[in-house]
Amino acid sequence: MNLFVARESDPQETRVALLATDAAKLVALGAEVQIEAGLGQSIEVPDDAYEKAGAKVSADRAASLAAEMVLRIGVPSEEDIASLSPQAVHVSLLDPFNHTDVVRGLAQAKVSAISLDLMPRTTIAQKMDVLSSQANLAGYVAVVLAAERHKKILPMMMTPAGTIPPARIFVIGAGVAGLQAIATAKRLGARVDAFDVRPDAQEQIRSLGARPLIVDLGETGQTKEGYAKKLTDEQLARQREAMARQCAQSDIVITTARVFGKKAPLILTNAILDGMSPGSIVVDLAVETGGNVEASKLGKEVRRKGVLIVGLPELQRRVPVPASQMFSSNLFNFVEHFWDKEGKHFVLDRDDPIMQGCLVTHAGEIVHPVVKEALA
Ligand code: NAD
Repeated sequence: MNLFVARESDPQETRVALLATDAAKLVALGAEVQIEAGLGQSIEVPDDAYEKAGAKVSADRAASLAAEMVLRIGVPSEEDIASLSPQAVHVSLLDPFNHTDVVRGLAQAKVSAISLDLMPRTTIAQKMDVLSSQANLAGYVAVVLAAERHKKILPMMMTPAGTIPPARIFVIGAGVAGLQAIATAKRLGARVDAFDVRPDAQEQIRSLGARPLIVDLGETGQTKEGYAKKLTDEQLARQREAMARQCAQSDIVITTARVFGKKAPLILTNAILDGMSPGSIVVDLAVETGGNVEASKLGKEVRRKGVLIVGLPELQRRVPVPASQMFSSNLFNFVEHFWDKEGKHFVLDRDDPIMQGCLVTHAGEIVHPVVKEALA
């Protein structure tokens, strides 16, 4: 079976879908791997590293896109979709709720499009879970970026010249990104408080040495996949009151709250930001899905009454080496899970719960029930 790894069409993308080490593992499975020339350029991996791994460097991009399987990080362009073969398997992050035209285009092209961002949150799927591996790095970068921009330091320092108190960091949303933000802030010596609507998160926050903020919101619940449910307007209003008090005491606030398949909840209103001290920093990690902060602007850092609001998307792209390493490993694990070692080909097993979770289009149709409903 032939596999083609395409370069990314988004000029902002710094990550690489497949590293040479994982290309070698695919070759060992019996795959014929082709990469687009310059695939590893952004992280200084030369083409010959892939050649040494047993892959070929494509001489004709359009012809290579007609492979039986195409792998990449982001969405394919319209021209790329036109070059895909019908029945080809395309694996990437599609962000299908926001790229509805791409999903429709892939369905029309009769491609079997797999979106890794729909990976079920099950134990067996953990090693293929791109959302988690990338959110983890984004959580780390959020803290480092805020620490670098803040005019204070994070740890406490007791010196003959006086004592500097630790910075106070408040993390809203203690999922994968939030927990890594908490861990990073603790390692840097900050005093950390955190809040999540899922009651289970309190124990995880405590286990990292941070203080969970407890707010009585009534029944919040979570989906069977472990995601938070959308709060009612009344619950959100109650949450905002508690957030306002905590934000007023914090030097840095990192928001990571998301609700699967829906717009992110608006948590930090301008009124809450008005209560924060000048010099404070807010990093909105949910900015790509609508944002948790009223004043955040996608792709921008804005200052509002002395508070800096960072709305930079995809923070994991700022650490492209580990981000590529993890993405590549997730991608290899996914292909291997469905690989027939004797027949040396990928099996699109629609009975497998992982495939059921990730397959968006197949045989000319949008087959993922949630995406189908959202697009209708
Ligand atoms: P996510 O990105 O969807 O959301 C981030 C966090 O925001 C979540 O913890 C969510 O509860 C929280 N949130 C939502 N609305 C909020 C609000 N109004 N205020 C405050 N917080 C709010 O979530 P995620 O990081 O992808 O993780 C979701 C869950 O799945 C977590 O329980 C995580 O531990 C679990 N998980 C399991 C696996 C696995 O078993 N394979 C893998 C990854 C994550």
